[in-house]
Amino acid sequence: MREIIYLDNNATTRVAPEVRDAMQPYLTELYGNPSSAHTFGREMRRSVERAREQVASLLGASDTSEIVFTSCGTESDNWAICGILESQPDKRHIVTTRVEHEAVRNLCERLEKSGYEVSWLDVNEEGLLNLEDLRAALRPETAIVSVMLANNETGVLFPIEEIGRVVREQSNAVFHVDGVQAVGKIPINLSRTQVDLFSLSGHKFHAPKGVGALYVRDHLKLAPFLIGGGQERGRRAGTEAVPYIVALGAACDLAKNFDGHARVRNLRDKLEDTILASIPNARLNGTRDGERRLPNTASISFEHIEGESILAHLDEAGICVSTGSACNAESHVSSAVLRAMNVPYTAAQGSIRFSLGRYNTESEIDYTLAQLPAIINQLAELSPYEIKQE
Ligand code: PLP
Repeated sequence: MREIIYLDNNATTRVAPEVRDAMQPYLTELYGNPSSAHTFGREMRRSVERAREQVASLLGASDTSEIVFTSCGTESDNWAICGILESQPDKRHIVTTRVEHEAVRNLCERLEKSGYEVSWLDVNEEGLLNLEDLRAALRPETAIVSVMLANNETGVLFPIEEIGRVVREQSNAVFHVDGVQAVGKIPINLSRTQVDLFSLSGHKFHAPKGVGALYVRDHLKLAPFLIGGGQERGRRAGTEAVPYIVALGAACDLAKNFDGHARVRNLRDKLEDTILASIPNARLNGTRDGERRLPNTASISFEHIEGESILAHLDEAGICVSTGSACNAESHVSSAVLRAMNVPYTAAQGSIRFSLGRYNTESEIDYTLAQLPAIINQLAELSPYEIKQE
């Protein structure tokens, strides 16, 4: 395969060599079942428990028993919401936002059709929530509040410490956070928050696809997701995916020790600032406040130009990006996240998400910045709209 410049790290990430090395023996000679009573099985159990410690440590959980392994972020999100609704059948109200990932949004739409009541919180043009709207939405019958920490399309961060305080002050609702895009990109310390449930997904931070986790605060009543053997203390049955769990633990260690966040942020800033300054009709989606946005993400709209065409031209130049959420790649409706932010249709259609990661280099950013203006110029000439030169 030819060399690519990978600027699509919010879609998925490369498996880190350290992670691959850690999991490799579990794909070959270390194949035992952690539930087996022999020494070989017990060795596997120790490996699973070590990974649980690594996940708990990255999240700042107060006990390893609060971590349950799952297969992906979607499973963690689905389980958190459905598990709470099942364990509190008399509460039939959910609070969430209009900018959640499909794993939460589509599930809540489906629950709404089946008779649950959902309050959908709006965001402003910068993608930020108004906590007064949250206060007003909470009721005694609210079972769960589910919000994301970092938005997958814009990188906008929701203030989960403050949100958690409001949820606790105003209700008895359980507080779920979809942390899938935040883990590995910003520090997380759940012990300082009121978060009851927190979803993460390994492939977003250099573990392979097929493993995730759900943090379940101690003593929280949550109906089990899979019923079967007693694995994961009866909460999620099925023989543990030991190689993947070991990989997730190694990825957590790697994330915890990563000291290159400022470098990634500088590369992102260089890319974003140069595009906004030099390409007419380029506009940023999401807040400009650096403290309220992931350091690796830049969602930029090129007004009156088709995002799909920009993506295809960048692709030809060997540069991988995304038009909003990867899950939207097949559909032509504009992104629900950008719609919720009131981004005009002509700009939403031309949105490109650049998402950087630990392996990107300055020369890759320079190359991208060298390719992009000509691509945008060429497409602007084909555009039926008259594009303003600023
Ligand atoms: N939540 C968010 C915010 C995401 O960005 C994603 C994936 O893009 C998911 C959930 C789903 O995670 P997974 O792909 O592991 O199912």
